[in-house]
Amino acid sequence: MNMDFKRKLAIPMEVKEMYPLTGNIGKIKEERDAEIQSIFTGKSNKMILIIGPCSADREDSVLDYVERLAGVQEKVRDKILIIPRIYTNKPRTTGDGYKGLLHQPDPEARPDMFKGIIAIRKLHMEVALRTGFTCADEMLYPENHKYLDDLLAYVAVGARSVEDQQHRLTASGIEVPAGMKNPTSGDLRIMMNSIHAAQSSHTFVYRGWEATSQGNPFAHAILRGYTNSKGEHHPNYHYEDIIRVCDEYDKRPELVNPAVIVDANHENSGKDPLQQPRIVKEVLANCRYSERIARIVKGFMIESYIEDGRQEINGGCYGKSITDACLGWDKSERLIYEIAELL
Ligand code: PEP
Ligand code: MN
Repeated sequence: MNMDFKRKLAIPMEVKEMYPLTGNIGKIKEERDAEIQSIFTGKSNKMILIIGPCSADREDSVLDYVERLAGVQEKVRDKILIIPRIYTNKPRTTGDGYKGLLHQPDPEARPDMFKGIIAIRKLHMEVALRTGFTCADEMLYPENHKYLDDLLAYVAVGARSVEDQQHRLTASGIEVPAGMKNPTSGDLRIMMNSIHAAQSSHTFVYRGWEATSQGNPFAHAILRGYTNSKGEHHPNYHYEDIIRVCDEYDKRPELVNPAVIVDANHENSGKDPLQQPRIVKEVLANCRYSERIARIVKGFMIESYIEDGRQEINGGCYGKSITDACLGWDKSERLIYEIAELL
């Protein structure tokens, strides 16, 4: 191969030995996993909010952000369960640009994968210790999942990965809910096929092992909007879109725990993060209008950070996204209280 194999990296078991779970993280995860499952099974009707920056680019501003979120969670805990987005690896449309904390633990320095693996584990651990939150991350590289599997509350399979077999089979062996996004083209059948694959048992090669997964009964749909063949944005959070997902689930009686998370940013907002409050409120209005929608919508994904908008990687503004533009803190806090009032 035309590659420089620079050094052999520690395997997940070794990294977990170096950085084991501390404090009461194990207990927090167990309790939160149970509560999150009860929302997906319908035993609890709390709303899930997967909220946070597009990328967890810096430890200081991410911890600051998540601590603010913990204060808000206290006030809405009877209606909303917050899962912070701590997204440590980023898919890039062309492969160019910032690939996340995993690749660049210092966003302005050259990639360092060993430091990156340690940095993502330490960040997820630090968030749990300081706030009692276990978090969501994207499973961009299936073979890396075990570096974090004892910490994560939720895993998303991104729009560019959802048709990939290794992502689907790995999702089928994950114990926490796996959100399968609609692909960038918007074809809902691809998303539904991925949910079928992730809910089924498979035998496959995983990290050099012959492994058999159990199937993940909490694999579900995330609607994130799409781009058509002309490159135009199209939302898929409206009434008709969600009813279509209900119909798709009805056509597949083998699927359990039917669920939709509405991603209010990305192609749904047309990349304008300030549209997110309007989008969430429209979906909540449709939940009041339609029993089917109320039953299937389990929550929202919101891209939110300290400052509104985005900047270039070396922009120097604290708490402003260096990937997708986000909703700033004040507006995000207001939105969470508004959601709680509408529920
Ligand atoms: C994201 O959640 O930041 C993301 C990259 O999502 P998608 O896969 O929907 O583009
Ligand atoms: Mn994003």
